Amino acid sequence: MSSATAPLDRFSQPDKAGHFGRYGGVYVPETLMTALEELTAAYEQARSEPAFQKELAHHLKEFAGRPTELYFASRLTEHCGGAKIYLKREDLLHTGAHKINNAIGQALLALRMGKKRIIAETGAGQHGVATAAVCAKFGLQCIVYMGQVDMERQALNVFRMRLMGAEVRAVTSGQKTLKDAVNEAMRDWVTNVRDTHYILGSALGSHPYPMMVRDFHRFIGREAKEQILAREGRLPDEIVACVGGGSNAIGCFFEFLEDTKVRLIGVEAGGHGIKRGEHAARFEGGKLGVLQGAMTYILQDPDGQIELTHSVSAGLDYAAIGPEHAFYRDRKRIDYAYACDDEVLEAFKTCSRLEGIIPALESSHALVEGLKRAKALPKDKIVLINLSGRGDKDVQQVAKILGVTL
Ligand SMILES: *Cc1c(COP(=O)(O)O)cnc(C)c1O
Repeated sequence: MSSATAPLDRFSQPDKAGHFGRYGGVYVPETLMTALEELTAAYEQARSEPAFQKELAHHLKEFAGRPTELYFASRLTEHCGGAKIYLKREDLLHTGAHKINNAIGQALLALRMGKKRIIAETGAGQHGVATAAVCAKFGLQCIVYMGQVDMERQALNVFRMRLMGAEVRAVTSGQKTLKDAVNEAMRDWVTNVRDTHYILGSALGSHPYPMMVRDFHRFIGREAKEQILAREGRLPDEIVACVGGGSNAIGCFFEFLEDTKVRLIGVEAGGHGIKRGEHAARFEGGKLGVLQGAMTYILQDPDGQIELTHSVSAGLDYAAIGPEHAFYRDRKRIDYAYACDDEVLEAFKTCSRLEGIIPALESSHALVEGLKRAKALPKDKIVLINLSGRGDKDVQQVAKILGVTL
């Protein structure tokens, strides 16, 4: 049996030290080891308890709006002229994207651990907004670290967080963007670890975060599987999702890993094309290294300095990819592609015009690849695209790019 078709169950959980094969692990300062061990133990305990799972499911339903619809995109299907296209509607969730799944899960965990102070990092502000919302709901103190440059670019999200009672702290070190905000959040955690939980926003960082964040997003794939079986009586042929840190993708793919007839495709940000500093496609230009807690593929120069990244979508604009993705890529279970800014804008417009659904620019990366594949496949095939978020947050930026004055 080739490695590509071997059963995955033995491999789909990291080892005790959090490794997915050679990737992942715990690469943090000594001062954070205790916090991570405590978190791992609390999570292992919680996830085996039906009461915790029940509470999680309750809040995901009542606060976030799960389950989300699986929507047959008839006009996109007609437009492509090939496979049937289904959209998993994570864009319908409260606060506008899948991120709320993880924010709720980790907030519940913090409450169990008796930690009343929450810190988070945010780039575009989407994870910050989701975290601020759950902290308001559960009565937790919320501090969000955000690069000063990002705060200026995403002023509306800063205001949203503040409306919900969060304190947004400007980070002025480094490039004043997401990577620097993560560093600042880790510094805070080291200092205040006794009463503080760090809600990390993607399937990134050191163990147990990649595993835990993935688990909190597994509802996406579980629902999608049930829904497509009810609707079509069979599984999709291909599933496509965008990959920033990789949380919406792994949450969607995970339930299908052992269904080896289902092709899984992750889409990274190709930005202006695969040239240094012009994209965020870690599997195209990246090399193995360690960043912010985990061993994975990273965009770095020959001296190991982290390279600048670019994408039209802030949510995919990060130099490292979640370690579990690197593992399944090696095993040839998940394929990876990238989409460039201009194609992404086209897909954004096409989906808006044909379906009446304005997708997030991040999700539009998945649309680019999904539509290409649907076109190339015959009509009896099915392509499922995970629509990770809605595009309301992006309309001002798109107007500017299109030269429209509002
Ligand atoms: C943050 C974000 C992403 C990227 O994060 P992942 O962890 O890779 O899922 C994708 N889509 C939307 C709408 C986002 O807000």
